[in-house]
Amino acid sequence: GRAMAKSKFEYVRQFEADDTCLQNCWIVVRLDGRNFHKFAEQHYFTKPNDDRALQLMNRCAQSVMLELEDITIAYGQSDEYSFVFNKKSNWFKRRASKFMTHVVSQFATSYVFYWKDYFSDQPLLYPPGFDGRVILYPSNQNLRDYLSWRQADCHINNLYNTVFWALALQGGLTKVQAQERLRGTLSADKNEILFSEFNINYNNEPLMYRKGTVLVWQKVNEIATKQINLSEGSEDKEVKRTRSEVTLLHCDIIGQQFWKEHPEILA
Ligand code: ATP
Ligand code: ATP
Ligand code: MG
Ligand code: MG
Ligand code: MG
Ligand code: MG
Repeated sequence: GRAMAKSKFEYVRQFEADDTCLQNCWIVVRLDGRNFHKFAEQHYFTKPNDDRALQLMNRCAQSVMLELEDITIAYGQSDEYSFVFNKKSNWFKRRASKFMTHVVSQFATSYVFYWKDYFSDQPLLYPPGFDGRVILYPSNQNLRDYLSWRQADCHINNLYNTVFWALALQGGLTKVQAQERLRGTLSADKNEILFSEFNINYNNEPLMYRKGTVLVWQKVNEIATKQINLSEGSEDKEVKRTRSEVTLLHCDIIGQQFWKEHPEILA
């Protein structure tokens, strides 16, 4: 038929490079907001952590997990999110470009779509963009180390930013002076400045800021009413079902405990 006919132009498809992800590897897609340092300023994000922005990021990640196939865990902090596809996934025949573009576009459209739910008083001034990359991890240890790396990054940046903005907003220092003050300081020094000069115990800062956000699937039992048709009419009956939903956690994923409590993620 007409639709099946091949034109003389068909050969150009051969130019498409094969980007099949290696079998048995965990497929990670990480995205990151483009130029969000400026985006945050222009939209008056509170410093160092704007809750609305973090919650919007989490909402977008939830949309990605619900709409796309085979994502087992996601981790987010600042303007970035990582999504881990099951190592056995055969979604789009494991084509890297399909994974990456579906994740990034679903996330970016969600960011605009849900913006007003989180920033009711702040109009979105222009369409934000996100970059994406695909990384393959051949072992469970490599995958855990990847996630640990991102959470360690969250901790280091958040500790720095917490002191920096305390010095700048409460300590009366300029941004240059605050930067100068922190040059060469270790974690212990930063904790000490926070405690002695600002009466802030870093360990009491919100978990979402210190640990980032972990999204996992959780089974929930629910009772639904089902209509049963009988010869003498119909009757409502209660039936138990299990459903999977996406849950948000702000916990440590570097140590053993999380992985002991969620063995299904690496299974
Ligand atoms: P690039 O395009 O290279 O990623 P960038 O400006 O986005 O550049 P990042 O290293 O990704 O640089 O840093 C993101 C920046 O966005 C942070 O440094 C911070 O200034 C800002 N930001 C992101 N999320 C928040 C938030 N929830 N609250 C306050 N600031 C935020
Ligand atoms: P996939 O996710 O694999 O791309 P798809 O349903 O998007 O699946 P496509 O081959 O991309 O499949 O085809 C896009 C379809 O969208 C068309 O077949 C048509 O039905 C519909 N479509 C797109 N643009 C228009 C348009 N302007 N007017 C009417 N229908 C459209
Ligand atoms: Mg970057
Ligand atoms: Mg960025
Ligand atoms: Mg970033
Ligand atoms: Mg299409």
